[in-house]
Amino acid sequence: FDQLEGSIWLDGKIIPWSEAQVHVLTHGLHYGSSVFEGQRAYGGEIFKLEEHTKRLHASAEVLGFTIPWTEEQINDACKQMLVENNLTDAYLRPVAWRGSEMMGISAQANTIHLAIAAWEWPSYFSPEERLKGIRLDMAEYRRPDPKTAPFKSKAAGLYMICTISKHAAEAKGYSDALMLDWQGRVAEATGANVFFIKDGAIHTPIADCFLDGITRRTVIDLARARGIEVIERRIMPEEMEGFEQCFLTGSAAEVTPVSEIGPYSFVPGDITKLMIEDYMAAVQPAKEELLVAS
Ligand code: PMP
Repeated sequence: FDQLEGSIWLDGKIIPWSEAQVHVLTHGLHYGSSVFEGQRAYGGEIFKLEEHTKRLHASAEVLGFTIPWTEEQINDACKQMLVENNLTDAYLRPVAWRGSEMMGISAQANTIHLAIAAWEWPSYFSPEERLKGIRLDMAEYRRPDPKTAPFKSKAAGLYMICTISKHAAEAKGYSDALMLDWQGRVAEATGANVFFIKDGAIHTPIADCFLDGITRRTVIDLARARGIEVIERRIMPEEMEGFEQCFLTGSAAEVTPVSEIGPYSFVPGDITKLMIEDYMAAVQPAKEELLVAS
């Protein structure tokens, strides 16, 4: 990743990829005072860009700092990164953090930095391949109580337990891990929300201690538009025994079918397939914009 070509937006300047570096005494590195986003561009358009940028701003406010760039400036910078790097289908990673002027838990005066990187990350699974589903282990760590961690912030610090869990799962040959919440209920995967299907209805946990993903909300709307019932409720892990299908959602994961979670198995089927199709149609740029661009 270090050697990728292209440019990165850092604090208002566009610089070569390899020069986008931070000091080792960066507060964000030592104390996790860092927030980030992850969004995809399809056909040159960034899907739900405004929502992602709003969430980035809100994530920073939860951690007590204000990003010194307006939403409009960030949106423009994201679009500029696509153009500069000659990308149409890509993943974008904006990240904001407290800088290195002061070292210590308190660093009120430290400069707030913002970087935006973009790189090619096509959705390379064909519908057939996706439909096989991925295998998930059960994670050892649980999503913390909302009184223990600021779960509405997409804060780097909250990903410590996600990386530990995902690495442990990968070491056992799984693709990802399913995390329970602090009360032992089904929560989400390490970087994506989870949905189950039973008797023609979709069931998903209430996002009351984990990220209410932009993709999650999009898929809920798409399913309801199809007349499919979507039930947000508390789900105990034992209930997975009775679910027929399962999929994950996320800006990076898109809609990814799951074939196994620990001892439970699922067969990706009709509704999962429909949600993949509807999501992939929803992310395409509007026809009018394509006409204007051509
Ligand atoms: N949960 C976690 C922990 C995530 O990292 C992500 C990805 N941002 C999601 C859920 C899904 O969020 P979104 O659909 O907004 O990408």
